[in-house]
Amino acid sequence: MQERILEIGQAAKSALLALQSTEALLDWEVEYLGRKSELNAILKGLKDLSAEERRVVGPAANALKTELTLLHKEKETALRESARDWESEGIDVTAPGAKKPLGHLHPVTTLEHAVEDIFTELGFAIADGPELEKEWYNFDALNFPKDHPARDMQDTFWVSTKKGKDRFVMRTHTSPGQVRYMETHKPPFRVVVPGRVFRNEATDASHEHTFNQFECLMVGEAGEVSVATFKYLATTFFERFFGKRVEVRLRPSFFPFTEPSFEFDITCVLCNGKGCSTCKQTGWLEIGGAGMVNQRVFEAAGYPRGKYQGFAWGFGLTRLAMMKYKISDIRLLMSGDLRFIRQF
Ligand SMILES: [Zn+2]
Repeated sequence: MQERILEIGQAAKSALLALQSTEALLDWEVEYLGRKSELNAILKGLKDLSAEERRVVGPAANALKTELTLLHKEKETALRESARDWESEGIDVTAPGAKKPLGHLHPVTTLEHAVEDIFTELGFAIADGPELEKEWYNFDALNFPKDHPARDMQDTFWVSTKKGKDRFVMRTHTSPGQVRYMETHKPPFRVVVPGRVFRNEATDASHEHTFNQFECLMVGEAGEVSVATFKYLATTFFERFFGKRVEVRLRPSFFPFTEPSFEFDITCVLCNGKGCSTCKQTGWLEIGGAGMVNQRVFEAAGYPRGKYQGFAWGFGLTRLAMMKYKISDIRLLMSGDLRFIRQF
């Protein structure tokens, strides 16, 4: 009996495969699943079998019935679909499918990754810090005097806290990352801290309340890391970033957390130093600030005075993005306007 069930199954399946019309499918259904079909007769006759036989034949016959019913349904659908007259329904089956909108990274994020890749190749670690920062890390540990104008409400977003508790700010630069890193690491080391920073100021084409910076810190024993190290590293970085020959120029400046301090410029990558509207005909672009870490910052991080030497360097990633993509209004980057973002 079991063998017969197998045979019925094979016959039914090959017949189903061969048939091409709904009429033929109807005949097939009568023959293999109908009331007078052999399979149905077997199922009906189960009660007359011995208990032992029934245990074997019953499940096999039922399984075949389930399988054939399913196959019948599939064939029915397939025949119906192939019989549809697509053209009269106004459907062009050769038309290309509608493209699903696919997102991508923000241009500043893409550049952040590119910058991180270059620093990683140069042996730098990547560290992170909180955007809501203690006043201590954002200002005090970086040697900002208590009355420094940067602490002014006009420049800084202060977050209200209870009297006598730590005061918090939305970090105004990525430099607090220096102190946080030094607290948990011993020189020599090289590290970059990328991140968003916040300034309480009116926005215009070149000013924004939120933008992205990179902090770079390299520290070694006294005498190991010098301004020359910085200049070499900065040149190497920008040449890799822009993919062309770049010169770095240092100008004396002042920051509380470095001594000596300098602003640095690179040759204008648009005109290669000849002079254009972007560099205001000077041939140079202002990129950021740097300097040798002030010993008072080392002390704030818990290092003994005079034991180590290193440079700190900060530059605006947002500014680099504007340069690289020739974006004239910084506000576009944070606008959330997809028409703008989709161009990258
Ligand atoms: Zn230029």
